[in-house]
Amino acid sequence: MKRIYMSMTDPPPNQLPQLYGVNLQRATKFTYLVSAMNIMASIGVRARCLGKLLSTRLYRQFIRPKMEYGMAIAKLNRDDYNILQETQNTCLRKIYGTKTNHSMAIIHHLANLEFIVDRVTTLQAKFMPDDALFPTLLPQARQTKGLRSWTSVIRKNKIWQSLDTTTQLDHHMVTNSGLKTAIKQHIKSTHIQRCQRKNSKLLNQCRQQLGIDPILWLPMTSIEHNLCIHYRLGWITNHQQQPCPNCHQTTHLSKQHLLSCHRVHTFLSIPKNISDPISFILNRLPKTPPTSYQKRVYWKIIWPKLSYILHQLHRTYRPEYYTTPSPPTNQFGHLLLQWIEPPLVPHASPSNLNL
Ligand SMILES: [Zn+2]
Repeated sequence: MKRIYMSMTDPPPNQLPQLYGVNLQRATKFTYLVSAMNIMASIGVRARCLGKLLSTRLYRQFIRPKMEYGMAIAKLNRDDYNILQETQNTCLRKIYGTKTNHSMAIIHHLANLEFIVDRVTTLQAKFMPDDALFPTLLPQARQTKGLRSWTSVIRKNKIWQSLDTTTQLDHHMVTNSGLKTAIKQHIKSTHIQRCQRKNSKLLNQCRQQLGIDPILWLPMTSIEHNLCIHYRLGWITNHQQQPCPNCHQTTHLSKQHLLSCHRVHTFLSIPKNISDPISFILNRLPKTPPTSYQKRVYWKIIWPKLSYILHQLHRTYRPEYYTTPSPPTNQFGHLLLQWIEPPLVPHASPSNLNL
């Protein structure tokens, strides 16, 4: 069996990593993991067929664990983090069909996938409760040259730091639920920090709650899914000035222009002080079929209109993709409407029952 390990730096000559007495080969890229994604694509495991959410779950289940082996007890440097994150980004770019890293924060947020730096912090924190193996080895580890620095890794772990100081000193007081809450809180605070960075306007327009965004799993056609996801990822970017296919005015086809050109606020009955009426509605999509009559009526009216207007914006922005006239509003959003209010199944008459 071929065994390799990933590190951006050479180990000291007297500390070559070995397994069962055999020197391990060092790699600086996860080329074989990206190849694994290509192999999965070659046997039909493609985001286009499976959907982006299932493809992301397959990545999380089969590809990411390969990178995580030993991650919880490894001391990683900045270059190691970068190469791990770039490998994850490459896989996500294949799934979501993006070519750059601009949308990565949004993809991680939509799919509720941790950035590698957060994943490492989480895995390290999970190794620390008293029922985990590593704390039982810590007394020996502290005596072993090369492993002493691990105690500083433990001290610097932000999840561990967030737990109560007395809990830190006494491993027996860390409960699984306490750890779970601390992990959740850490992921939430790193998301808030990302939202506060420059160029995070699109991320701020997404739902602020953690969890998989319903636009990835609610019943929709693949075209509707793609339009919602790509709207989140910011497919409308400023181009050179050109005649707008809708109003024929020479302008930048920016998101702002398209929203006003198609009178989206009025069409969706959203107040003008809400800058992005489409995100405003997407952020309110229900996670379970609404029980209230008013809400069902609202979604039955608004959802076909929203799907229609996303389609219109895309037609204006990418007219070369379309050769036939647009279908009317009532042709959009059927699958979600059926989920919101399933059609009534007629009861079998007593005479048809086999008693
Ligand atoms: Zn226009």
